[in-house]
Amino acid sequence: MTPLSSVIRAFADGLKPEPDMTIDQWADKYRKLTSETSSEPGDWETERTPYLREIMFELSPQSDTEEVVFMKGSQVGGTEVGNNFIGYIIHKEPGPALMLHSTMGTAEDASVQRIDTMIETTPVLRERIKEATARKWASTRRRKKFPGGFLFLRGAKSALALRSTPIRFLFMDELDSFDRDVQGEGNPISLAVKRTATFARRKIFKVSTPTIKDRSHIEEAFKNSDQRHYHLPCPVCGHKQWLQWKGFIWQRDAEGRHLPETVKYQCEMCGDLIGEEFKDWMLANGEWIPDNPGHPVRGYHLSAFYSPLGLGFSWAYWVQDKLSCGVDPVKLKTWTNHGEARTWEEHAEEVDKNPLLDRLEDYRGAQVPAGGLVITVGIDVQVDRFEVVARAWGEGEESWLVEWKTIDGGIKDAEARKNLAEWLKQEWIHESGVKLPVAIALIDSGNQAKFVYDLVRVLRRQGVKISASKGSSHHQPEAIKKMKQKGGVPFFSIGTEFCKVAIYSRLNDVHEPGPGFYHFPEGTPEEYFNQLTAEKFRTKLHKGHEIVVWEKKSDQRNEVLDCEVLCLAGLTYLRPSYQRLATRLAVSSIGVTSKARVAEERMHDPLTRDAQRVKPRRGGYLNRWREV
Ligand SMILES: [Zn+2]
Repeated sequence: MTPLSSVIRAFADGLKPEPDMTIDQWADKYRKLTSETSSEPGDWETERTPYLREIMFELSPQSDTEEVVFMKGSQVGGTEVGNNFIGYIIHKEPGPALMLHSTMGTAEDASVQRIDTMIETTPVLRERIKEATARKWASTRRRKKFPGGFLFLRGAKSALALRSTPIRFLFMDELDSFDRDVQGEGNPISLAVKRTATFARRKIFKVSTPTIKDRSHIEEAFKNSDQRHYHLPCPVCGHKQWLQWKGFIWQRDAEGRHLPETVKYQCEMCGDLIGEEFKDWMLANGEWIPDNPGHPVRGYHLSAFYSPLGLGFSWAYWVQDKLSCGVDPVKLKTWTNHGEARTWEEHAEEVDKNPLLDRLEDYRGAQVPAGGLVITVGIDVQVDRFEVVARAWGEGEESWLVEWKTIDGGIKDAEARKNLAEWLKQEWIHESGVKLPVAIALIDSGNQAKFVYDLVRVLRRQGVKISASKGSSHHQPEAIKKMKQKGGVPFFSIGTEFCKVAIYSRLNDVHEPGPGFYHFPEGTPEEYFNQLTAEKFRTKLHKGHEIVVWEKKSDQRNEVLDCEVLCLAGLTYLRPSYQRLATRLAVSSIGVTSKARVAEERMHDPLTRDAQRVKPRRGGYLNRWREV
C-alpha cells in the first residue's frame, strides 16, 4: 500500500494520522489491561517496565531492524510486548501477520486468552475487528481479520501451515518448545522466516524462556544477535552493570541458617550493597548495552531479577527458591531457565551402576519407609511378559523403590493379565502401618495398543487407577501430557527423553537423601541396576541441529528404565500435596479411615480429576512451567 493511500484510508476511517507513533507510544495511549491477565489492570504504562521500551521501539516501523530476539526469565512482561506488537499491527500498521506457537492448541489458547482479551478491552482494536466483520470477514480462533491485514495463529507442527501465504510480521512465542524438525522438512523457525522473504519492511520477533544448552532455539537466536543486557546504574557510584546471580549476597543467622530476606546486590565497581528498594529507580535509569555491537539482529537478554517491585517475584523469592532446589538437577534447571533466563547444561550422559549398588538400604521391615507417601507404577509390555516397577514418593520428589517384578506371559495371556491385575490391586505396608494402594499406574501401549486399551478398560472397571501411555516421538519437553482418550481409556503422551534426563541427572548428582534422591532397598538384584543404567545419551547433529539421541550401551535390556520413566511421569501428573498425604497417613495410622482419604484418592484418578475440574494452582512460575 502506498503511503498516500494509507493516509486517505486513515481519514476515511475517521482517524487522525499519527505517523510517528511507535509501539511503546501506541501502548501508552491505547492499551488497556484487565484484571484477568494482569496484576495491575488499567492503562498500560511502559514506564512501569522501562526495559521494554527499546524492544518495542525496535519492533516499530520507525526502526530499520528486521529481527528482534528476546530471551527472558519469568514475569518480566515479554508476553505483553508480543501483545502490543500485535495490537499495533491491527491498529496502525496493517499487513499479513503470523503468530506461531509450538502447537495449534497453544496457539488457540493464546488466541482466546491473550489476543481476544486485548481486543475486547482495547476500544481501537475492537473497532478494527468490527469493521472487518461488517465487511463479511469474520474472525475465528485461528484467524483475526482487520482492514488491510490479517493475523494467522498457527502451530509449528505442520510444514504446510509454515509454507503457505507470505507474511510481513512474524511473532514466534515460546520458541524453545518448538520441535527441531517439522515433518522431515527442517527447522520450523527457518521455514516460517522464509515466508517473510518477499517483504522489504518485515519484522520478526522471537521470544522464549531458554531451556537446555545446545538444544535451545532462543539461545541460538540470541547468540546470532548483538546480545544486549540491561545495565543498571549503581545508586552509590553510578557504574552501570547487568544483574547476575553471582552479585547477590545475603546473611545467615547465628545457627548458619540462610536469611533470604536480607538479600542485596553487590556493585561490581564500588562493592556497596544495593537494596531492592532501589530497583525501580535503577530500571528507570537503565540502558541496553550490546556485547556484540553492529550485528543487525537485536538480541535482548533479561533475567527475572529485573521484574519491577510488585509486578514479579522479589530478589528474596529467587534466593529462597534457589536454596530450596538443593542439588536436585531438575529443580535447578527450572530455576536457571526461569530465574536467570539461562540455558541448563546437561551432563547426565550415562550412569555408573556401582555407586548405586553401594547404597542399598534397609527399609527396616516396612515395604515403604516413612517418607514415601504416594505410590506410582510403570508397566512395560513385552511379547512374553510384563515388567513392572512400583516407586514411593515423598517431599521434594525423594523416592523409594518398592518393588520390581517380572510377570511371565504376554498381554494375550489370560493368566498373565490376571496376575498383573492381582499385583496392581495389592497394597504396600507403610512404616506407619497404613496400607498404600497404587495412586496411578501407567502402561506403555507400544505396538499392542488395542490389547492394552482393552486391558486398561477391564482393570479400571475393577477399580485399578491405570491409564494407557505412549512415548512421544517429538522430543516432548515435559514429562507427561494428557491426550484425548484412546480406546475409551485415559491416554497420556510421555516425554521419555525428558524423564530419562531427569532420572539420570538425579542418579548422578544427588548423593544424599533429600529432594530428588533415589533410594533402593537391600536385596535389589544387580539386574535391576543393569537395566536402569542400560542407556546413554549423546547429542548429534541432525539437519543442522543438535538433537539428543538415547542409545543402549550394549545389548543390555532396559525395561526397568522404561518403567521408572512411567513412575516419574505418573507422579508429575498427580502433583500430590505431600503435606496433606502425610497428615492423612498420620490420621489413618491411628485407625481413622476418613472420607478425606477417599476424596484424595478420587482426586488422583485422571477421569474423576478432570470431571471435577480441579483448578491448577495459580501464580507460581513452577506451575506455569509444568503447564507449558
Ligand atoms: Zn557502585
